[in-house]
Amino acid sequence: MLSPKSVTVLGGGITGLSAALHLSRRLPAHSAVCINLIERSARLGGWVFSERVQVKDAKGHEADVLLESGPRTLRPNSKALLELIHLLDLAPSILTVPRSAPAARNRFLRLPSSDGLTTIPSSFISLLASPLATILVPAVLRDVRRTSGKVLNMDSSEDESVDAFLTRHFGAEFARTFGSALVHGIYATDSRILSTRAAFPTLRQLEQHGNGSVVRGAFAETFSSMRSSKLSEIPVAKGYDLGDVVDLMKGVSVYSFHNGMQTLTQSMATHLQEQPNVNILQRDGAQTLRKNNDHYEVTTKSGRRITSTHLLAALPLPQLHRILEDSSSSHADITALPQLPHLLENPSSSVTVVNLIFPPSSTPIHPDGFGYLIPRPSNDYPASSLGMLGTVFDSSALSGQDHYPTANGNTQGKFVKLTIMLGGPYGKPSPTPSSPEFLPALLNELQTHLGRREPLPEPCVVKIREHQDCIPTPTVGHTTRMKELAAAVKERWGPNAAVIGAGVGGVSIGDCVESGRRAAYELSF
Ligand SMILES: Cc1cc2nc3c(=O)[nH]c(=O)nc-3n(C[C@H](O)[C@H](O)[C@H](O)COP(=O)(O)OP(=O)(O)OC[C@H]3O[C@@H](n4cnc5c(N)ncnc54)[C@H](O)[C@@H]3O)c2cc1C
Repeated sequence: MLSPKSVTVLGGGITGLSAALHLSRRLPAHSAVCINLIERSARLGGWVFSERVQVKDAKGHEADVLLESGPRTLRPNSKALLELIHLLDLAPSILTVPRSAPAARNRFLRLPSSDGLTTIPSSFISLLASPLATILVPAVLRDVRRTSGKVLNMDSSEDESVDAFLTRHFGAEFARTFGSALVHGIYATDSRILSTRAAFPTLRQLEQHGNGSVVRGAFAETFSSMRSSKLSEIPVAKGYDLGDVVDLMKGVSVYSFHNGMQTLTQSMATHLQEQPNVNILQRDGAQTLRKNNDHYEVTTKSGRRITSTHLLAALPLPQLHRILEDSSSSHADITALPQLPHLLENPSSSVTVVNLIFPPSSTPIHPDGFGYLIPRPSNDYPASSLGMLGTVFDSSALSGQDHYPTANGNTQGKFVKLTIMLGGPYGKPSPTPSSPEFLPALLNELQTHLGRREPLPEPCVVKIREHQDCIPTPTVGHTTRMKELAAAVKERWGPNAAVIGAGVGGVSIGDCVESGRRAAYELSF
């Protein structure tokens, strides 16, 4: 029998899990509202995927090493995430990287003009000695001297690409060297198409606060936050149930969990499975979406029909578009849900993720630090290349995730794990990841990047995963388009529906959790 009120969440990635979890808090079992979560694949969590591998090298050294093929670090500024950690009692599982740690302070660029890696200066003194000073000093002076010229209007829909914004403020060389590299590291895309407004809204705010200068804006913000230094680093948000998790984040640069990011999605799934009014359907994707009088009706691949009064779609937008296309037939009281605008507007990046584990060695494989990023080549992306975007030195930041045998007074060194990202704006890597030439070419390139004369040791573990369309690119005008999309959902589907997820409101795990939470509280029952 259909319960009077019910809600269906489509997609069991972190966004859908967050929506279902907050719905279940808001509507506990005694509310008699049924919550359905529909996930196409066999596992919940979407791109969040952590796994443990047992490694052993030729000398008999052993370890149990954690690898991530999706997200690996979180920023402490997302209150929605901190709330989740508090609600799910995950504080003891957190692994933090302090701002003072080398893994937070040392970040590198790989510039073709230099041998090995170039340290990004983290202080004024290190700036003066840095080869990057020739780009950074003129860039900062150029921005600070800005007294006239364009300022993006905060209240209007004005937007421009990250590359255009940074070029306007800091010059083209800075925009290509630093901007493109940063964008490779977060969005795996081309900074010339990425929206400043959607991807880096604080840049626009700083431009406003600094009367046209980002640097002056940053100084003004620093002074005003110093004046109110009695406030904790992360303002305690009204409405968020944070417990004392905020205290754990003081002085933290990034964090993860001892058992990896999947700790979060697994705990969310377990919590949901324990709720009597939550039904989780896995291995059975939504195939059509229709409206039956006042109810939404989802038909799954296996032919199940799930009816509800409310609907949250937390799917990649192109998937949602396809479902709506396939739903066109209507009969009697059942009508297809109308198509929505802008679902196919943005491209998505495909990324090849390579996890490597090297045996313990007396000479370090890489410097201590977070990792390095590679800027867009000065003559644009080549038609064919390995297409390396950057490398994360996981052992520096997250070695606490790995376990070593403690018996017999173990004195072995540490295995070295690192993750290389390829693809995005370069397209599919060449040689292709499945070809025998791929790994030697990759190790050769890595050796050059690390400035090593001698070849790298043979890795004990190599995991290669090709993630198709895994990170949506919010292109210029995205924020305005998403407002139009939200209005169209309300107008065409009714007030009890919303479309959320990485393709709508931001790709970081924090953004996804926040958007699921907000949608859960905005529905009216
Ligand atoms: C390689 C990589 C590294 C990243 N690194 C970081 C990082 O370090 N920090 C960070 O904050 N973020 C990072 N991100 C971004 C972040 O992981 C993603 O943006 C986020 O996980 C997206 O979550 P989502 O739930 O919106 O979408 P998804 O994870 O795509 O979930 C959508 C779900 O919908 C399901 N689905 C699809 N079609 C159907 C259907 N028809 N019916 C039912 N279900 C369906 C899918 O199977 C999937 O489970 C990274 C992403 C990638 C790919």
